[in-house]
Amino acid sequence: MSDETMSFQLTILGTSSALPTSNRYPTAQVLNVLGRFFLIDCGEGTQTQMRKFKIGFSKIDHIFITHLHGDHIFGLIGLISTMVLLGREKDLHIYSHSELQKFISAQLNFLYADKIPMKIVFHPLNFKREQLIYEDAKVSIYSFPLSHRIPTCGFRFDEKPPLPNLLAKKIEEYQIPICERQRIKEGGDFLTSNGQLIPHSQLTVKKFKARSFAFCSDTRFDESYIESIKNVDLLYHEATFAEDNRKLANTTFHSTGKEAAEVALKAQAGQLLIGHFSARYKDHAPILEEARAIFPNTKAISEGDVIQVEKKNV
Ligand SMILES: [Zn+2]
Repeated sequence: MSDETMSFQLTILGTSSALPTSNRYPTAQVLNVLGRFFLIDCGEGTQTQMRKFKIGFSKIDHIFITHLHGDHIFGLIGLISTMVLLGREKDLHIYSHSELQKFISAQLNFLYADKIPMKIVFHPLNFKREQLIYEDAKVSIYSFPLSHRIPTCGFRFDEKPPLPNLLAKKIEEYQIPICERQRIKEGGDFLTSNGQLIPHSQLTVKKFKARSFAFCSDTRFDESYIESIKNVDLLYHEATFAEDNRKLANTTFHSTGKEAAEVALKAQAGQLLIGHFSARYKDHAPILEEARAIFPNTKAISEGDVIQVEKKNV
């Protein structure tokens, strides 16, 4: 089993669109970036799926909600209630449209008279332009507008480039003391005892490429968001319909398999995941087929799938 603190790994919890089916759950995914667990959308039944696929509730500190359609938010109150029952004290951060706060607060107030053990911090999204919404030492997260019937954002998760290794022969050559090494790894140069400045680039070698994932929730085909997802290693893009329902896709502001693949191709993504399949398709094969004809490295996701983005050398 891979070490979760080294992983860049996506777990699929739900893949259906608005109408329930007997074997699919509505949208929810969890991305683990080096031991940080980010929940993206929270359709009905998300907490049950988390139990099933062994994602602890206490691991989730940040929830990203693309838009306020029921199939993306009906799981929130169940999940938050469970956190209350478990006596959670850590802050819970929710990134969403500002109106979500009203919806959640009304339910929490009804259930608990607002006496809950933890603080819920709401972070309103900007639906006009790309925005940095979260950053720590290891990861940056951006939101960017999509094109759906109501304000909708996609999210991009970028691992920060790992620090380079110091070259052993340079440590030896310049007698670099231990106390200087971390500073040089972080970008510093080294001044030798006889006053010679050795630049950082000569002392280090890069280890791995930083990894990235973008989540394009409900949206119709629109080139405006391609720039925000350029060169991601892993791209999730909804593909609610096949081309036989292209008209319906357009009028409901959704995408077809072919359109999702065109986005992946234009964005030069590494791998494409498609989901949010309409309940009218008993079999998603036609959606997958038309996507693969354009972007061969496409996978149709199912509940419980775990997709790992492997480390690549520079
Ligand atoms: Zn929607």
